[in-house]
Amino acid sequence: MRVLVKGAGVAGLTAAFELAIRGAAVTVVETRHGLGGNASWFAGGMLAPWCERESAEQPVLDIGRDTADWWDAVLPGQVTRAGTLVVAAPRDAGELDRFASRTSGHRRVDEDEIALLEPDLAGRFRRGLLFPDEAHLDPRQAMAALHGKLVAMGVEFRFGADAQPVSGFEWQIDCTGMAAADDRLRGVRGEMLILRTPDISLSRPVRLLHPRLPLYAVPRTDQRFMIGATMIESQSAGPVTARSMMELLGAAYALHQAFGEAEVVETGVGVRPAFPDNLPRVETSGDIVAINGLYRHGFLLAPAMARQAAGLVFSQDRTRELAHETDRQRRSA
Ligand SMILES: Cc1cc2nc3c(=O)[nH]c(=O)nc-3n(C[C@H](O)[C@H](O)[C@H](O)COP(=O)(O)OP(=O)(O)OC[C@H]3O[C@@H](n4cnc5c(N)ncnc54)[C@H](O)[C@@H]3O)c2cc1C
Repeated sequence: MRVLVKGAGVAGLTAAFELAIRGAAVTVVETRHGLGGNASWFAGGMLAPWCERESAEQPVLDIGRDTADWWDAVLPGQVTRAGTLVVAAPRDAGELDRFASRTSGHRRVDEDEIALLEPDLAGRFRRGLLFPDEAHLDPRQAMAALHGKLVAMGVEFRFGADAQPVSGFEWQIDCTGMAAADDRLRGVRGEMLILRTPDISLSRPVRLLHPRLPLYAVPRTDQRFMIGATMIESQSAGPVTARSMMELLGAAYALHQAFGEAEVVETGVGVRPAFPDNLPRVETSGDIVAINGLYRHGFLLAPAMARQAAGLVFSQDRTRELAHETDRQRRSA
């Protein structure tokens, strides 16, 4: 079976994998000239379904709780399983209680345990929450590794090309994110920074709760940290605004003053594709299957959506085969 996947973000790459592993001949077309520049490229890479439940619906937790296992099995070595630490300044203790009451899968940690978990945060926060089963990965490294794996599996990539005209494929998987022709989709703009400092090290994503400026810092290699992210109802992918930059830097400084001396290595903007209920969908229309609406949860939910799409394609293909066979038998009877 020949399948065309449109879009090489996390949705397209994971779909290509789930199809290729089942034996489909997969071609991926991507309008950009390489991996990157899309929403997936600017993501934090947190696999944090318990924390996300604070604002997300139950399916995000149900679907996302085993995702770290998928990434680990497909790309060994990419996932760090060290949990998530959530902290708040003493004056924002109410935020921590509110967060705890809206989530599960955590335990309370005091100042001493925070110091054991993250020595560089010693003495800075009196109370926190540890979500021990959460994990994270570096989206750019994971996408590059998945791309390499797919090429080795025989998947063809055509960068700098869109899918027109399409011929010779039994199925198309539309993973074009915000570019999809779907007027139910809206964009949620996420601005982020990459900071580099040798003066702090973190072992896990740390979320700093604040009534106005919640922030997370996700450790990367090379003394770099992804600092994110804004949530603005807008499809604009224009440069980070001065206001957002000030807010992100202010919150990073509140997490640790050493961020004040950090180098700003990169600023970036990704637009999260979202449906009205903020839940992803796999939908079929003729020979097109669309995976979209991954919102804040692309790395967390794309593997399950990809499995669902591949399962659908293969089961419908079998149904088509059976229908052809019945038809042939009827005609020859
Ligand atoms: C700042 C930020 C932080 C985030 N943090 C996290 C996080 O910690 N954890 C998490 O799970 N999620 C996170 N997300 C969410 C996640 O990044 C998105 O849900 C996910 O990237 C959406 O993936 P996608 O493949 O649907 O879209 P995209 O990554 O945008 O990919 C769509 C691709 O389709 C291509 N395309 C468009 N039209 C065509 C065409 N006609 N033909 C071919 N190709 C086409 C585009 O060029 C693009 O490359 C974050 C997002 C942002 C912005």
